[in-house]
Amino acid sequence: MDSARTPTASRTPLRALATEAVHAGRDDLARQGLHAPPIDLSTTYPSYDSRDEAARIDAFATTGAEPDGPPVYGRLGNPTVARFETALARLEGTEAAVAFASGMAALTAVLLVRASLGLRHVVAVRPLYGCSDHLLDTGLLGTEVTWTDPAGVADALRPDTGLVLVESPANPTLAEIDLRALAHSCGSVPLLADNTFATPVLQRPAELGARLVLHSATKYLGGHGDVMAGVVACDEEFAGRLRQIRFATGGVLHPLAGYLLLRGLATLPVRVRAASENAAALVRRLAADPRVTRVHYPRIGGAMIGFEVAGDPHEVIAGVRLITPAVSLGSVDTLIQHPASISHRIVDADDRRNAGVGDRLLRLSVGLEDAEDLWSDLDAALDCSVRGAELY
Ligand SMILES: *Cc1c(COP(=O)(O)O)cnc(C)c1O
Repeated sequence: MDSARTPTASRTPLRALATEAVHAGRDDLARQGLHAPPIDLSTTYPSYDSRDEAARIDAFATTGAEPDGPPVYGRLGNPTVARFETALARLEGTEAAVAFASGMAALTAVLLVRASLGLRHVVAVRPLYGCSDHLLDTGLLGTEVTWTDPAGVADALRPDTGLVLVESPANPTLAEIDLRALAHSCGSVPLLADNTFATPVLQRPAELGARLVLHSATKYLGGHGDVMAGVVACDEEFAGRLRQIRFATGGVLHPLAGYLLLRGLATLPVRVRAASENAAALVRRLAADPRVTRVHYPRIGGAMIGFEVAGDPHEVIAGVRLITPAVSLGSVDTLIQHPASISHRIVDADDRRNAGVGDRLLRLSVGLEDAEDLWSDLDAALDCSVRGAELY
């Protein structure tokens, strides 16, 4: 049996994060005479023992545990994807992790797990990533949301509350929440912390009391702007429910994406630390700059910066040359975007502004380029913003 499929995180003493990043999910390779992980592209798996397969399918239907022995069908689980899941669970310090085709597919699965138990009410704190806000606010999945601030969460809970959902640091304002205090206010209702911005390198929400840790793995976990994926790190019981929803709704991750994500995790600690150093250097320059009215940067650090300009933010976007003007984040190269126009466009304008996402806010995802090169580009783009404003 492929040992990467066994969720051993809870039983194995945790090695240092940097060690787990390059070894987790690969523990069996040397014994198999391999160095790089194999990619298993099979959609189905032959078995001459259909009695045994029936028993394993029954077991999956009961608990959602990964079938013992050979896999059955790609939608039930894939060994390459399982390596990534094992590794991410180790990094987040949870028993298990379940991967999906995107961050939104992962969030959808969590909401469906709770709604299927009749727990359709969600308590959430703004700001959230624009599409997460949209999914909750429209009630597209039959859920109902109460928006509140962290201090209001306890009072917002109802008997049918299935989930409390927060981001910290939040997209795009970098607002931070005391997750330990919040987890306490949630009582027995699961707290989901979207850890996309911090990554397990800077913050491990499960240690602070969050039952569910969500990532848009499209961002830092993949890290190179070429994989779309989502993942939920959690206890084995919740993971079982998530696998059953994934099986029934089909939002599976492709094995090639699973391979690229495992490869991305190996350099995650190095990438996050180096990009964070670059970000800290840019924050110092931006904070002292008269063309910038406000800088948002979280206490825990990281490679994401929000800043508000005195002039026209659209001219900054038009003015960058080295930095790529594009939505998304967490890649090796630096990206900039205007949340009110793109990542948070789908949120109602008043709700967006009330959540602190102003019309002059820009979001910068700092990459691994030389910090001085990045500053020269930003400096020139900020000059464009001032000229743009003078034309008004
Ligand atoms: C991008 C993002 C998502 C959605 O992830 P996709 O992979 O794009 O579906 C969710 N949460 C946060 C914080 C994000 O930045």
